Amino acid sequence: MTIRSTTVAVVGAGPAGLVLAHLLRRAGLDVTVHERLTRSALEGAARAGVLEHRVVEYLRRLGLADRLTAEGERHGRCEISCLGEEVTVDYGALSGGARHWVYPQQLLVRDLVDRYLADGGTIAFGSPVEAVVPDAAGRPVLRTPDGELRAAYAVGCDGAHGVVAAAFPDGAEGPGRRYPYDWLTVLARIDRPVAAVRYAVHADGFAGMMPRTADVGRFYLEVPAGERLEGWDADRIRAALVHRLGLGGAAPVPGELLETGVLRMRGRVARRMRHGRLLLAGDAAHTVTPSGAKGLNSAVADAADLAGALPAALDGDDGALDGYQRRRLEAAWRTQEFSDRLLDLLHLPAGLPPEQREFALRLRLERIRRIAAPGPEGAAFARDYAGAGELAGPGVWPPAQRSAVASRTTAR
Ligand code: FAD
Repeated sequence: MTIRSTTVAVVGAGPAGLVLAHLLRRAGLDVTVHERLTRSALEGAARAGVLEHRVVEYLRRLGLADRLTAEGERHGRCEISCLGEEVTVDYGALSGGARHWVYPQQLLVRDLVDRYLADGGTIAFGSPVEAVVPDAAGRPVLRTPDGELRAAYAVGCDGAHGVVAAAFPDGAEGPGRRYPYDWLTVLARIDRPVAAVRYAVHADGFAGMMPRTADVGRFYLEVPAGERLEGWDADRIRAALVHRLGLGGAAPVPGELLETGVLRMRGRVARRMRHGRLLLAGDAAHTVTPSGAKGLNSAVADAADLAGALPAALDGDDGALDGYQRRRLEAAWRTQEFSDRLLDLLHLPAGLPPEQREFALRLRLERIRRIAAPGPEGAAFARDYAGAGELAGPGVWPPAQRSAVASRTTAR
């Protein structure tokens, strides 16, 4: 059996794994990345598309956002409709200038892969890590289709239910919530671009419309928890979206449905992101519903923080990885609280009798008007929503300077 060794084994080439791998290589570390999907399957998986201001600024400073900023769009307003009133939240202005970038996740992943390979990195595609076990000295050993991989550290960037979390004694479990509804998720052709994110708070249930590209939009429809897709044919989906979101006129109308699914709505935060030489980042440690567009953004923020902590730990700073865990668990809870608050605004309480719905909608309209108005509440919402401020991460090394950075080897 082949036995390989590396300093940092990264499991998963999603946004968290790719950003981490870029940064660690630039810090001169030996990094090995395993991804269970083939390259084409990885680069074809459409999920997120709304990226925070601070995340894109960070990627831009790394030189990893050239295509994103050339082809992506900036969005600083969203519309929330309720009881026939359409409220525009100008979060770009309310936050003092922070706006989203809209760029599909699969294109960002493609760009990160392209650049990683061009910079000399390698990714083992179609190569799932089957298990992670400790050796006699407590160092991780990864079982892969290419044989054993021995590492100083293994980082699970492998999404929810990952193999690295499974190697934690408690399975990296933590508190979670199953929401009393699910979302039907739809990618559809549209006849004109989505000018702004639109949320509908509606007596029949929430609906959402998000920009993706000029001719494709992402749509969401609240459905009962446990709903199956079979009862929803294309005409029913289109009719519900048009009705709840008030589409037509200047707003795009969904045409051909390119992809449909049902997202089980859950939030979860692991109690720990570190167990000895095992670490977690991104969805592997916390999953958040797409309500506030935070999952990918949090994954990149974890990677940026860990890319500072891991080299420090390898240089003998014993507290560096615990610091990573503390900062990023605190951030994960802030993100959950924001997304949970937004979900509460967008959905009526479960089981509310029809005669009480107008009252609940009217209360929500008050809250929508408050977050759209200038003042501390509007500013706080806007800053959280757009991801104002800066990501905490290591000093950024452009690739050209990487050779000047002291080279670290697998010996530690
Ligand atoms: P992932 O992207 O899940 O990557 C994990 C990778 O690990 C995968 O490529 C997987 O194949 C690989 N892997 C798993 N197990 C193994 C193994 N054993 N060996 C090797 N490889 C393995 N977030 C936002 O910020 N903004 C949005 O607008 C947004 N919209 C969303 C819309 C939808 C419909 C959905 C479902 C999610 C959305 N999200 C959004 C969330 C976002 O997509 C995720 O949070 C993000 O992908 C997390 O990145 P990650 O790198 O942690 O994990």
